[in-house]
Amino acid sequence: MKALVKAKPEQGLWMERHAVPEIGPDDVLIRIKKTGICGTDIHIWNWDEWAQKTVPVPMITGHEFAGEIVEVGKNVSDLELGQRCSGEGHLIGKNSRQSRAGKFHLDPSTRGIGVNVQGAFAEYLCLPAFNVVPLPDDISDDIGAILDPLGNAVHTALSFDLSGEDVLITGAGPIGIMAAAVARHAGARNIVITDINTDRLALAEKVADVVPVNAATEDLKDVITRLKMRQGFDVGMEMSGNQAALDQMVDAMVMGGRIALLGIPSSKAPFDWSRIVFKAITIKGVYGREIFETWHKMIAMLQSGLDVSRVITHRFPVDEFRTGFETMKAGSSGKVVLDWTA
Ligand code: NAD
Ligand code: ZN
Repeated sequence: MKALVKAKPEQGLWMERHAVPEIGPDDVLIRIKKTGICGTDIHIWNWDEWAQKTVPVPMITGHEFAGEIVEVGKNVSDLELGQRCSGEGHLIGKNSRQSRAGKFHLDPSTRGIGVNVQGAFAEYLCLPAFNVVPLPDDISDDIGAILDPLGNAVHTALSFDLSGEDVLITGAGPIGIMAAAVARHAGARNIVITDINTDRLALAEKVADVVPVNAATEDLKDVITRLKMRQGFDVGMEMSGNQAALDQMVDAMVMGGRIALLGIPSSKAPFDWSRIVFKAITIKGVYGREIFETWHKMIAMLQSGLDVSRVITHRFPVDEFRTGFETMKAGSSGKVVLDWTA
């Protein structure tokens, strides 16, 4: 089969021929149709410090996918050949206290497909049946291929009650933009999204009903006044990983505000924690998505009117993967989807 592989410990990914994976009794074999390129894949392409420390070579990359089940292991009774599906890319252990309490997303022994174990950028993927999420007919393969990052957005957005709340999102990347759409769907009042990239702000406005704010040129205090909010934002979602954005967010929050942190800072940075104390702010770190509650919620929201389709800005046949990665690396696109059937 064709597979997009980190074949050498240096920059780049290579399209190679690999054997179709053999499945175990509890696995399924999925024929991949569409895949999404994630920031993680860019780290692996660039072979940065994190990737060098984390990813063994050779590794088939990729974890955002949609496909169809073409083989089931002998212990798998609840999935059928031909079932369209996406799936959770975190492979969990079942013995930790967290897993045994049903909090699978908090299992400390989690391994990621496309990072620690062979991934989804290939014609076929072996996945534990446990991780499979069937796709209803009204959810396309394109959307199926971005359910993983939509799950990050949904898990973050649903961290706090949003109904009637004023929400600030810092970072209008694909996840920030999808979080804005989710916040609207969940009944938030004012939703403001900041970025320093005007292309990203324009995309945010196209995808979601939000107020875009250029953090480089506009002051959030003026935005709060303009929108006639009394003190500031009730809920914040940090989705840029940028320290300056978090600083601005804390300043713009109400007393007793709640902040969910998804963005991953690239390095340690000093932070004035006294503002968190004096504003009595609650901060929640968010990792991944809840297995499988977030999957249930996001599919249900998509079926009840949540529309994130316009966040996919580029589609390429997989043989043009270089153009796909260049498009992502340029930093102004939404989601880039690769077609493995073309
Ligand atoms: P992205 O890099 O595409 O988007 C981040 C955006 O933040 C960019 O558009 C950038 O211009 C913007 N930004 C930079 N400085 C800013 C500032 N000062 N103010 C406002 N915006 C600023 O990333 P993404 O794929 O949308 O993911 C969002 C974040 O979530 C990233 O940091 C990513 O690493 C992280 N992430 C975390 C998890 C998790 O499980 N915690 C999972 C996926 C992604
Ligand atoms: Zn991803």
